[in-house]
Amino acid sequence: MFTTASSPAGESSHDPGLGFGRVFTDHLTSMSWTTDGWERPQVRPFHNLSLSPATMVLHYGQAIFEGLKAYPHPDGEIRLFRPELNARRFQLSADRMAMPELPVDDFLDCVSLLVSTDRSQVPDRPGHSLYLRPLMIATEATLGTRPAEEYLFLVIGSPSGPYFNGASPAITVWVSEDLPRAHPGGTGNAKCAGNYAAGMAVQRTAAEHGADQVVFLDAHEHRYLEELGGMNLFLVRQDSRGTTLVTPPLSDTILHGITRASLLTLAADLGLEVEERPITLAEWRDGSDDGSVTESFACGTAAVVTPIGRVRTSAGEFVIGDGTPGEWSARLRTELLAIQEGTTPDRHGWMRVVS
Ligand SMILES: *Cc1c(COP(=O)(O)O)cnc(C)c1O
Repeated sequence: MFTTASSPAGESSHDPGLGFGRVFTDHLTSMSWTTDGWERPQVRPFHNLSLSPATMVLHYGQAIFEGLKAYPHPDGEIRLFRPELNARRFQLSADRMAMPELPVDDFLDCVSLLVSTDRSQVPDRPGHSLYLRPLMIATEATLGTRPAEEYLFLVIGSPSGPYFNGASPAITVWVSEDLPRAHPGGTGNAKCAGNYAAGMAVQRTAAEHGADQVVFLDAHEHRYLEELGGMNLFLVRQDSRGTTLVTPPLSDTILHGITRASLLTLAADLGLEVEERPITLAEWRDGSDDGSVTESFACGTAAVVTPIGRVRTSAGEFVIGDGTPGEWSARLRTELLAIQEGTTPDRHGWMRVVS
């Protein structure tokens, strides 16, 4: 059962300058699902949810989410970046978790409705945007272990600045050599809450080693690079053939990032060779040591392109380049942000106006 608390209790703010995901706009949009299907979208003041302690999501974890951003453009419009890809990925995540499929148009309508309602809270300073978090949870209250028969889809918005503190030029990562994030046949390519829960213990270990984020290896051989807890991974290689952007190939253990796909396109535009192929931890370390791996970065909606300067493993640390952000990381970041923020032509037709 889902009911609403009468008092708005979201931390709502008109100052969007503070970090990532800490303040929320004044409204949310929602749709509920029962075995009769989806109800109409609703716009409500941002509020706390009231849930029975027996609510299924609290026990069995049917919870999925998305992340996308709305950008104010110089022409006065607000635009979303490739939101239909988020809508489709949300359907794939729902299917993997035996949750109901939300039509792409309903997903897009709920997102647009929230952005247009809270238009005045979309921050317009450089490097800022309105981060949107669509999510779906099982709301039926029963302890039976089967797919729930009631769900709630919500979209909340968070005026946000840079994901990582701008003071740090490149992040340090910890390589999880024993505990993988995802297994073949598991849920690694679904954007489900449980994937994040499973990674928290390693994130804690990473923090103990002074690292900002975790890089996970494959579950089978513990040799191949996969991705970070919430970001995909790229290496830049420099050799006699030129400069190549390399990233692990997509599989069911890697989240199919929209930023990842977009950067592969932009890299080709910029004349880089691109390769999607398996990369071992040994290649990363040896290449960094002999200078053939000149840069590495993580990417995702929240973090855009975030350079990786240092890699810590149980065997010690290696440094990529001179440990500071590299040239291609910066160029790709600038190129992607220029399209997203509307300061360069949208040559691939990626941006969608919020009407
Ligand atoms: C969301 C996410 C990403 C990044 O995906 P984008 O579509 O680029 O935001 C990468 N890896 C994981 C595990 C994620 O959850």
